Amino acid sequence: MLRIKTQIIATLLSAAALIGLVGGIAIVSQISLIRSGAIAEATSVGRQLAETIAFKAADTPRPLFERPEALHEFVTSQHSGSKRDLVVVDHDKVILADVPGEEKNVGTPYGHDPDNEVGRTIEDGTPRNFVESSADLSDAINLVAVPIKDAAADQTVGAVLFEYTPLLRAAQQRTNNMLWLVGLCTAAAVLLSAISAFLLLRGFGAGLSGLNRGIESLARGDAGARIGRTANDEFGQLAQGFDRMASELESSRGQLVEQKAYIEDIVRTVAEGIAVIDGNGRIVSVNPAGAEIIGRRNDKIEGQDWPSVLDMRGLSGDRLAQGTSPIELALTTGRRHQAEVRLAKPDGSYLPVIASCNPLNRSDGGIVLTLSDISELRSAERAVSDRAEELTTLNRELKETSQATTRLVKLGELLQACVTFQEAFSVVGSAMPDFFGGLSGTVHLTSASRNLVEEMAHWGTVRSSVGQFAPEDCWALRRGQEHVAGPGMLTPRCNHITENGGRGYVCMPLAAQGETLGIVHLCEPNAADRPDWLTERQQILRGVVDTLALALANLRLRETLRQQSIRDPNTGLYNRRYLEETSSRELRRMERSEQPLAMIMLDVDHFKQFNDTFGHEAGDLVLKQVAGTLLDHARDSDVVSRYGGEEFALMMPATSLADGAERAEAVRKAIKQLHLAHRGRTLGTITASFGVAAFPELGASWAEIVNAADRALYQAKADGRDRVVVGLGKAHADRQQAKASKSVA
Ligand code: GH3
Ligand code: MG
Ligand code: MG
Repeated sequence: MLRIKTQIIATLLSAAALIGLVGGIAIVSQISLIRSGAIAEATSVGRQLAETIAFKAADTPRPLFERPEALHEFVTSQHSGSKRDLVVVDHDKVILADVPGEEKNVGTPYGHDPDNEVGRTIEDGTPRNFVESSADLSDAINLVAVPIKDAAADQTVGAVLFEYTPLLRAAQQRTNNMLWLVGLCTAAAVLLSAISAFLLLRGFGAGLSGLNRGIESLARGDAGARIGRTANDEFGQLAQGFDRMASELESSRGQLVEQKAYIEDIVRTVAEGIAVIDGNGRIVSVNPAGAEIIGRRNDKIEGQDWPSVLDMRGLSGDRLAQGTSPIELALTTGRRHQAEVRLAKPDGSYLPVIASCNPLNRSDGGIVLTLSDISELRSAERAVSDRAEELTTLNRELKETSQATTRLVKLGELLQACVTFQEAFSVVGSAMPDFFGGLSGTVHLTSASRNLVEEMAHWGTVRSSVGQFAPEDCWALRRGQEHVAGPGMLTPRCNHITENGGRGYVCMPLAAQGETLGIVHLCEPNAADRPDWLTERQQILRGVVDTLALALANLRLRETLRQQSIRDPNTGLYNRRYLEETSSRELRRMERSEQPLAMIMLDVDHFKQFNDTFGHEAGDLVLKQVAGTLLDHARDSDVVSRYGGEEFALMMPATSLADGAERAEAVRKAIKQLHLAHRGRTLGTITASFGVAAFPELGASWAEIVNAADRALYQAKADGRDRVVVGLGKAHADRQQAKASKSVA
């Protein structure tokens, strides 16, 4: 401000001084010009006077110079007109003429030229001016010395001294007037400049102080500072600009304050702990969550060196090596570092946290430390891991169950495919170890007579039950439900259990379709050490027992049906259909092994009559007894069948014709010896006729053998009954036939 004011004042004063200087120079040049003009004019007049004085007119004998009176007259006349001094001197500077009043000087040398200007002019013929030096003169007299030349002789003969002081005075007067004018103008200019400077400075001062006030208020932090100057000048524009800027500043400051509050609010309420650490490792600030995680009050954390309040450990709880904590790494490298650590709290507990250190964009190299408490995450992970373990166990159990179920289904399929009990038990024997993981056991079936329970299958290395026992010896069979016994159990031990089974066993009744078929028995010799041995297997044991029971019941049913389809219900012998099926097969087998096959056909004699006499019931009894006799004389490989009515057939594989005949004879005798009684009545002797045939002697096919036996039987009847006839070949038969017809004829 001061400098601008000083500059303005200096500028204005310089301008005034310049005006004065220019005026002064103009005056000085004017003075010099006037002076030169006056000298020039005086010199010119002086020259004219000198020429006039030197001029010699034709009608005069001498020039004025040489005539003192005429010269005096001339000088006087010149002086009266101009009132200027006029002196004429000769070659020796002696005054020849002077103005009136100074005539006394004529004849005296002129001595008022201080530097002998007159003498030198006479000498070199050059006009000179000078100021007359005279002690008695108050005012200086300016004179010009002009040489007087003799034209004819071409030499300077004297000089005219002519005063030009009045001219000079007049010029000086004019100059003084101009000086006054210039002075006045300069003064006016200075005054005007001062006024204008005052006005300018006043305007400047007002504008600048307004601006200053605004800027100072703004600098003090008063964002509402306004200048409010509305004038349409530069300061007005500046003020308006300032006001706009201040209001923008105010609004952005308002936004900043709002944003700051918002950010502070976030930092205060965020769940993560946030701490600012400066480049020297000192904790500058910490948010409430950070204090909570660290386990100290804010004022015990802020201002402290971080290692004194943050005890970071590795995941196993051991101290981190020097320089390896994320804080140290971030502080030393200036890069972001993050790690999962365990924070040792003042109360001795450990908190799993993720510590992230982000360098700040500041010159002091500080960082922001974020601490995320992941204890809940870790416990959730543990829960997930526990749940996963449970799931794995469950899955394993499910898998085991599924595998067991698959095995059960397979067992069921296999058992369903079995045709005989023998097959079924062989399947059971090989499948069971898979189900019961090394435990030994048996399957016992109750016999048809229901008085014996027999072992049908066994697996494993331990024999824990006897092979055969009475149904009453097993509690499971007695009570019709599972029976478990073993160490520490009060339940009684079954009688069929051996010493081995005494350590722990279970018997499960095999029940299906309302019938108990037998038991499944399972033994665990280490039951004392493994109390859960049965619980683990209960489900699979039930499955196995149910599957097995069903399969056995089916087999039994199937067997019954089969027996019904191939047996004669009255005698229990095979029927004719079964005989034919079996015989054809047996015949081919014998043929392959080149063995004979014999067949006996027998027919009860006069059975009709018997029936008629004793009734059908008695007839049925006879048929049963005959059947029994036949069975008594048959081997296991023989097939005894009721061929139809009171006719029977005995098929004997690997039996020759002779052996067959022998057997027939034995049977015939046995039948004859039967002593039968029905309802107290003796039925008398029963006889039967036999026809015997055999492969290969009497035919290659079953039909041929049957025909041969049939023919032999017919022959036996014809021959008187109660006898055995061994069959004949077909040719022989035909011959017999022809003989018979001939005898009839
Ligand atoms: P032959 O000595 O010639 O064999 O005389 P037969 O009476 O035994 O023979 P026949 O063929 O004339 O009679 C058979 C009789 O057997 C007729 C029938 O009533 C009787 N019979 C067939 N099946 C049965 C049966 O299952 N029970 C009873 N009681 N009688 C039967
Ligand atoms: Mg008959
Ligand atoms: Mg008969």
